[in-house]
Amino acid sequence: MRKILIVGAGQSGLQLALGLQTQGYEVTLMSNRTADEIRSGRVMSTQCMFDTALRHERDLGLNFWESQAPRTEGLGVSVATPDSARAIDWVGRLDGYAQSVDQRVKMAGWMETFAQRGGQLVIHGAAVSDLDYFSRNYDLVLVAAGKGELVSMFGRDASRSPYAEPQRALAVAYVHGLGPRPEHPDFDAVRCNLVPGVGELFVMPTLTTGGRADILFWEGVPGGPVDVFQGIKDPSEHLALTLELMEKFTPWEYARATKVELTDAGGTLAGRYAPTVRHPVGRLPGGGLVLGVADVVVANDPITGQGSNSASKCAAAYLAAIVEHGDKPFDETWMQATFDRYWETAQHVTKWTNAMLGVPPEHVLNLIGAAGELQPVADRFANGFDNPADFENFFFDPEKTNAYLAEVAGA
Ligand SMILES: Cc1cc2nc3c(=O)[nH]c(=O)nc-3n(C[C@H](O)[C@H](O)[C@H](O)COP(=O)(O)OP(=O)(O)OC[C@H]3O[C@@H](n4cnc5c(N)ncnc54)[C@H](O)[C@@H]3O)c2cc1C
Repeated sequence: MRKILIVGAGQSGLQLALGLQTQGYEVTLMSNRTADEIRSGRVMSTQCMFDTALRHERDLGLNFWESQAPRTEGLGVSVATPDSARAIDWVGRLDGYAQSVDQRVKMAGWMETFAQRGGQLVIHGAAVSDLDYFSRNYDLVLVAAGKGELVSMFGRDASRSPYAEPQRALAVAYVHGLGPRPEHPDFDAVRCNLVPGVGELFVMPTLTTGGRADILFWEGVPGGPVDVFQGIKDPSEHLALTLELMEKFTPWEYARATKVELTDAGGTLAGRYAPTVRHPVGRLPGGGLVLGVADVVVANDPITGQGSNSASKCAAAYLAAIVEHGDKPFDETWMQATFDRYWETAQHVTKWTNAMLGVPPEHVLNLIGAAGELQPVADRFANGFDNPADFENFFFDPEKTNAYLAEVAGA
């Protein structure tokens, strides 16, 4: 059977490894950490995944935590005024529920499953020189190592990467003890709080190592009042700062957070990165070729919560392309075509996410405002997180936005 090497045991690498394994491929998975190290380590993401991405996991029978993880049935948007009131506030209903399963739980569990099913798991932080050596023994080498150093093998695609610098400073805290949402407490929702000029606060339920929890996630405009987490090592100091900023900018969220405590010592994360699209084919010093997967080739800012969703979609697209290719060689033409197939969906994610990082134009403000009056608009916006391609129909072009709003208002 064909031999495939996958470097990186994250959402995309593991989903692809387990999918290929089911199809009878001989898969080697290289991870720089063991399952236990991942499980007992630091949180890595907020990993809210919407229906389409979750379905790819279900299709492979990998939805091990579906019954335990909270079901997120809505997505709410609030916009803060300069005096910290809520100018806009609505909740859209998702057609299919979203879920967040702490990557520490999921990746550790999937890694163990891969090994139990006979997969070759190598614990080693791969360098380019390793890949050069290993590539000769495999039919295909996939690099799914996220935003780590191996991205240097893949050139930045400037035409698809409008930002050279990080656009947000990220600060995550996993907590127990958050009170229910004041509105619609009968179902769980992701809460997106937009604070113009300052950043965004996202609040969402998750399943973590200690059971159900909630995530408080600040995205701060660089240099602004929320860009203050860099260098903070003490998790309780990180949480205190998170809450202080919530009290100042989003008091309605702070009101339900007064009794929270961190889930565990690894429950905080701070960092930043520039959203980047890369050329998908990497050439090794010895002439071998490798194909980049998910964040390696398309890394978007988490402002729209798309990276894990995209990783799942990328893994599903690559799995289909590999299987369909049968015994033919995985050459450069195939690699480029395989990435292009993924880019069909990824391009919409990148366009929308990069737009959300900028100052919203007037028609987008009108759209977000109108969603407070027109429930179908709120619902459609919320479901755009599952299928960002739909934003082409009503988000980017003022004429299309106005026509859509007129149509809904008329109905
Ligand atoms: C703060 C934050 C919040 C986010 N929130 C969301 C969200 O709500 N929804 C969403 O969809 N996305 C979210 N994302 C994005 C999402 O987490 C990522 O896009 C997604 O995990 C990418 O999956 P991946 O498989 O490409 O890479 P990763 O998940 O990064 O996995 C890569 C793996 O490779 C390993 N690795 C790295 N280098 C090597 C090496 N040399 N050798 C071996 N192994 C290596 C890493 O340790 C890691 O385990 C968020 C990201 C951040 C930072």
